[in-house]
Amino acid sequence: MSLSKEAARSALRARGLRATPPRVAVLVLLAGAERPLSFSEVLEQLGPTDWDPATTFRNLVKLREAGLAPVVSRAEGLDRYAYARAPQDAHQHPHFVCDDCGRVECLPAALTATLAMAGPWAASIEGAEVQLKGACPDCRAGGGR
Ligand SMILES: [Zn+2]
Ligand SMILES: [Zn+2]
Repeated sequence: MSLSKEAARSALRARGLRATPPRVAVLVLLAGAERPLSFSEVLEQLGPTDWDPATTFRNLVKLREAGLAPVVSRAEGLDRYAYARAPQDAHQHPHFVCDDCGRVECLPAALTATLAMAGPWAASIEGAEVQLKGACPDCRAGGGR
């Protein structure tokens, strides 16, 4: 999914936020990412900016509070963010965590789509955070394990 700067600006304004350059940059980055990103990955992928890392962090938190960048994975105790057009857009699919490089990848929702149940608990379940782990294809190819 990609988001133009203009679309990012209107998404921010629609949530009552000012469309400042750090917010637009972080939102465009998250929308273009194929996997959830931690704060340090956001910094790394943004590259050099006119503002400092603390500003990026504050804006990431703002986006999270506004529901535009929910934390969709807490693998290994690290918050990872993803762009959400709507609140229900929050990565309701399993994630894969690599034990070697630590990256978190999105897996097809079909993997857990059959996790349905009937009975008194059915109405209680509002979401799932399924996490699978192992060595990612890159680490398997390069790590010689
Ligand atoms: Zn890996
Ligand atoms: Zn995901």
